[in-house]
Amino acid sequence: MRKKGIAASKGYAIGHVVIKEDSEVKIVETIIADIEAEKGRLKEAVINSKEQLEKIKEKAEKDLGAEKAAVFESHMMLLEDPEFTGAVEMNIESSKINAEKALMDVVSMYMGIFASMEDEYMRERAADVKDVGNRILANLTGNIGAGLDNLNENTIIVAHDLTPSDTAQLDKNKVIGFLTNIGGRTSHSAIMARTLEIPAVVGLKDITKCIKNGDLVILDGEEGIAIINPDETLISEYKQKKEVYEKEKEELKKLINIETVTKSGKRIEVCGNIGKAEDIHQVLENGGDGVGLFRTEFLYMDREEMPTEEEQFESYKYVAEKSNPKPIVIRTLDIGGDKKLPYLPLPEEMNPFLGYRAIRLCLDKKDIFKIQLRALLRASAYGNIKIMFPMISSLEEFLAAKEVLSECMEELKEEGKEFNKDLEVGMMVEIPAAAICADELAKYVDFFSIGTNDLIQYTLAADRMNEKVSYLYKPNHPAVLRLIKMTIDAAHKEGKWCGMCGEVAGDESMIPILVEYGLDEFSMSATSILKAKQIIMNN
Ligand code: PEP
Ligand code: MG
Repeated sequence: MRKKGIAASKGYAIGHVVIKEDSEVKIVETIIADIEAEKGRLKEAVINSKEQLEKIKEKAEKDLGAEKAAVFESHMMLLEDPEFTGAVEMNIESSKINAEKALMDVVSMYMGIFASMEDEYMRERAADVKDVGNRILANLTGNIGAGLDNLNENTIIVAHDLTPSDTAQLDKNKVIGFLTNIGGRTSHSAIMARTLEIPAVVGLKDITKCIKNGDLVILDGEEGIAIINPDETLISEYKQKKEVYEKEKEELKKLINIETVTKSGKRIEVCGNIGKAEDIHQVLENGGDGVGLFRTEFLYMDREEMPTEEEQFESYKYVAEKSNPKPIVIRTLDIGGDKKLPYLPLPEEMNPFLGYRAIRLCLDKKDIFKIQLRALLRASAYGNIKIMFPMISSLEEFLAAKEVLSECMEELKEEGKEFNKDLEVGMMVEIPAAAICADELAKYVDFFSIGTNDLIQYTLAADRMNEKVSYLYKPNHPAVLRLIKMTIDAAHKEGKWCGMCGEVAGDESMIPILVEYGLDEFSMSATSILKAKQIIMNN
């Protein structure tokens, strides 16, 4: 069977399916005759859970550091807590019910207790109990393929959707691609896939229903196709395509240390987009001229509390030093929309993409904003950092953000801390209003960076995450092209530079148009840089 979706990340993969289950398993209560045997099943599931957690913890310590791995330590402590497992055993004994039901009763009780506590930290422990409960349950039911750990090599993940943090945790040694029901080319899971260099097809609508765990599947990240249980001829055809693709990738490496100059002699900066500090290596290895977009919100994800000023400072300083003297444009927190933080509950909104997000949230929660700005400023003493504000819709908003930045500069001066007082401060143009008023804004900014992912969705009123309207989401729509051109011209008129960090910057069919419009800087997934350089040099 062949399914067509949206090509989200290039390349080919041939592997076996693991379906990521989102739905909760339904537990049926059964009366048990052999209570000892049931307690034995529970004991075994707990031992297996412990072994799995031990491995996850080791990996997390290696990949993410001891602090982030600490959460698994507390999961293990819960598994070892005799009050917890003892309560499940007692429930099996007294109610004579199966271990699954006895376990989930106790988990619900514990979750209820934690959830009703005053203290926020304790309230969050409810999620840990649920996680541990689900792990034991998975071991009891044998449904251990449900998570994203414990995978075999050559796995292709199939899911309704993957959150950005799911994607960030994928083990590249095991996972060779993913397929999802929903999402578009610019949903954050797709962007993460390109960063990880994992081929992906999204927006496949009902792929989770058409496929079983263990099925063989071909993933074609060029055409956006998934072929389920292909025959031998197709397999060898795709093995060949994969080989040709990889050879071409090798060829492009010759461009790594070559300056990108257009046919008319204009020098263009081709930079990379990153989500975490270590991604800088991939950008530099791919011949990037710097970073055009550091999406700092990923520093805030996958954790239980806000990153401190010190932690952020370390990350920004790391990138600044590694890329110095090449520039890095660091975007301030752009949370909201499809990016959420577990410890910062945001109101449920009818239209999250039109709601309380990015600069709107930061200007409202200045304490959070200032922590980041102070960290950024301090890191600017170590390399070529430029600051960029997201989702600016008016001059007032840009000036308000700059005002907070000035406050931070004053504070640091008083504290005798170093920073680059001349650092460039720019904004993203990703709201049509900003593009339309770019002539005015250009007088106040040091640079623009066009965020086409949002600009297109707002201009064409087509949700970037919704595959049902993806046919409307057209980068080459005349309205989008005019806004892009207006923004570039407005910047140049004021002697400022204009970049682009939305996905259009790496879109092979759009690059020639952008060169013609006079775009100065292109920023994209590291893996697209070399191909983009080649195209720019031919235009
Ligand atoms: C954009 O909107 O184009 C952009 C680069 O920002 P993000 O994809 O993070 O919303
Ligand atoms: Mg955006």
